[in-house]
Amino acid sequence: MTDTPEQPTGEVRPAKRVREEASEPRGEDMESVVATEVARVIRRFPTTPVPANVTRELFDAYTMPYCPEFEPPELRASPADNPHRKLTRPGGQRPEEPLLPHQAFPDGPFPHTHIPEYVLLSNLKPKQVAAIREKGDRMLAAVVHGGGQIMLKHAKLIAANIEAFLRSLAFESNDRKPFNVSVYPPEANKLDVNKPFNRPLAFFIDTGEEMDALRAYLLWQEVFAVNQALSFTALPIAVREDSWKVCVITGDAVDLRASHAYVVQQKTKLLAAIKLQLNANTDLQWHTAGLVASNWNITAGGWGAAPVLAAAFTDTLSLELTSADCAEGGPAMPAYLVMARPLTYDKHEAGAWTADFRRAMDLRIDMDVFPLDKGVLDCKICKSDVHRTAACPLANSEGWPGVTPALLGRNNTDVGGAPTSSIGIMNPTETAQDIFRSEELVVAEVAEAVEAVVAAEAEEPAPATCQGGGRSSLPFCVFGMYQ
Ligand SMILES: [Zn+2]
Repeated sequence: MTDTPEQPTGEVRPAKRVREEASEPRGEDMESVVATEVARVIRRFPTTPVPANVTRELFDAYTMPYCPEFEPPELRASPADNPHRKLTRPGGQRPEEPLLPHQAFPDGPFPHTHIPEYVLLSNLKPKQVAAIREKGDRMLAAVVHGGGQIMLKHAKLIAANIEAFLRSLAFESNDRKPFNVSVYPPEANKLDVNKPFNRPLAFFIDTGEEMDALRAYLLWQEVFAVNQALSFTALPIAVREDSWKVCVITGDAVDLRASHAYVVQQKTKLLAAIKLQLNANTDLQWHTAGLVASNWNITAGGWGAAPVLAAAFTDTLSLELTSADCAEGGPAMPAYLVMARPLTYDKHEAGAWTADFRRAMDLRIDMDVFPLDKGVLDCKICKSDVHRTAACPLANSEGWPGVTPALLGRNNTDVGGAPTSSIGIMNPTETAQDIFRSEELVVAEVAEAVEAVVAAEAEEPAPATCQGGGRSSLPFCVFGMYQ
């Protein structure tokens, strides 16, 4: 069992706050100011480091919200090669950058988007898949933000936009000229009008034999957001590693506003429960061990090999506090994303293991139940499967000019539904739970959410005006408006 380093083990769920106490002004209390700031930054910019004014000395695990930065190292055991934790513009050798001036876009770094090959190439006509594969590494995917089947009616225009943009990037090593790059739209196999964000998701950039400089730069910078009509992620295609997402855990006892100590204790207990139940179920343990043995290049033989091999898998498990969309509709909810190194790239093997895993898990802490199938993480903007659309770290980064959740009609930035509703009871169970929360946080969040909505409304034309052709500043009506 792990506890926070500073405090002894004990009950960390805060005592019920009485109404009078909650409404007392806390004045200039430094702790509340810091707590508010930490909560704001963590919730809006999950990838941003802790604010400079919050030090370990100032951080009180029992009164302040959860902050990954101050988590015990045992809980941060997620392997460094987890692709969902990587950032764009990685360190090391910088590639040659295009000459200035060029169209402006935010540099980042942003969280890297991990999309396996089968996702990029599924629902394409077989002949296009064959043509892409034939060209090998010189083909890159341009995952259009907010794209999917909804973009297909504008496919030629989008391809032309991306191509024109890429042909505007000049490189010193190419005699200070741009490359003559080509961009191809996806050729969809099947269409489903009810699923506008379904695959295909990507356009295809042919960087040719001699365009190493452009290719290296695109893969390093990865995220290109010039405006709402030109916003995409450049990715390699032949990524034969599945997503690290195992499942999404929800439950009334999961709370984004709980104290740091509460979250750390809950994460520790859930992680322990998953490992225990995986190993207690002999079938699942053997199933896991078999996949590790055949796919991970780990050898362990003889009696007792299964626990060793299964442990190699469970050692890569980690939980991340986040919010998830509700699988049955309704407001978003606090959740834990469970990640682990994928056991296989084979779709059928992975499906069979996941079914076994879900059957074996019955996660509880005391009377609190943690279901595995109620929360959904699936970003309609960047196509990541580890955060929800409204919480997209790209679209929520400061000064983001590209496609936003508001544009796609998914701007419920607050857990619990529309921003204005967060003044009242966001989740009926919340009052019963009475988990730690402070009035200041709620007030700050509401103000922030209202501000965002007002700003979005001032900026965006109503969908009706867009149907006729959109704003003159955009080359075409942003496809998100058509859903
Ligand atoms: Zn996203």
